[in-house]
Amino acid sequence: MGPRDVKIRVRAGGICGSDLHYYLHGGFGTVRVQQPMILGHEAAGEIMEIGAEVTHVRPGDRVAVNPSLPCGHCRDCLEGLVNHCVDMRFHGSAMRMPHIQGLFREVVVCAEAQAVPVGRDVPLELVAFAEPLSVCLHASRQAGPLQGRRVLVTGAGPIGALCVLVARHAGAREVVATDIADAPLAVAQQIGADLALNTASNPQALDRFATDKGYFDVVFESSGAGAALAAALRAARPGATVVQLGLGNGEMSVPMNMVVAKEINLRGTFRFDEEFACAVDFLSSCAIDVRPLLTEIVPLADAVRAFELAADRSRAMKVQLAL
Ligand code: ZN
Repeated sequence: MGPRDVKIRVRAGGICGSDLHYYLHGGFGTVRVQQPMILGHEAAGEIMEIGAEVTHVRPGDRVAVNPSLPCGHCRDCLEGLVNHCVDMRFHGSAMRMPHIQGLFREVVVCAEAQAVPVGRDVPLELVAFAEPLSVCLHASRQAGPLQGRRVLVTGAGPIGALCVLVARHAGAREVVATDIADAPLAVAQQIGADLALNTASNPQALDRFATDKGYFDVVFESSGAGAALAAALRAARPGATVVQLGLGNGEMSVPMNMVVAKEINLRGTFRFDEEFACAVDFLSSCAIDVRPLLTEIVPLADAVRAFELAADRSRAMKVQLAL
């Protein structure tokens, strides 16, 4: 431990889609696991020990662990584009060598800045949603104000479901979710989607929104599937903002003619920055209630079963490890 480090007893760790990509395929996109790496970047726990210069947490404090540690002095950090730091250390990521080890372990030492205190009464399994919720809050910032907007969420896995919650919390007028499986759609409806459409059993499900040049003001594309993006672009209004959160395995094609003809704002979104603290607040106050997303908390000894469950979309939304 350095003087500004803290030692955390990790208690809860959520399994994310990228953990599953590492586990099942050895990586995603161009990122490959090249050496042994502990997975996990959605975690919460308790402070065990603090370094001599640590001031904002004390032993016994309960914290959300922010998995990102930007360098603070590169060009992008200095310009406020912290999530684009060229020297980012992100727990459980194979993007740099040596890989940054993840948070699925009993004890982790990290920088003080990564430990965000939470209220005494908030269950740590809810706090462990801070990271994926931050991703969706950052995505919503790309979309602009959502109040009164008609929002489409394509892909209703954990990120899509959290986008439904964020859109509802932000005052969206209507929220429609699509997926190719019924189980996540049932959760989407439970947490506030007005309509949940299965585009596998009904490939024309979004057609009714595509007439008169489209319907939705904002799209959160959370599936990473080219077909979902194409359908979303057809259902988007002229001038709509389409935020791409999903990362496909490999390149994704974009029907650029629709982007041009409907003057669509197509935005990427990547990780998060200050949204992490905001996510912790929303979870602590239950202003955003993620409980319906938590499928099961699995003991560490059954980690393999946890990963297999998390990979089965017919049974699982968010699976966590109890550490
Ligand atoms: Zn930096």
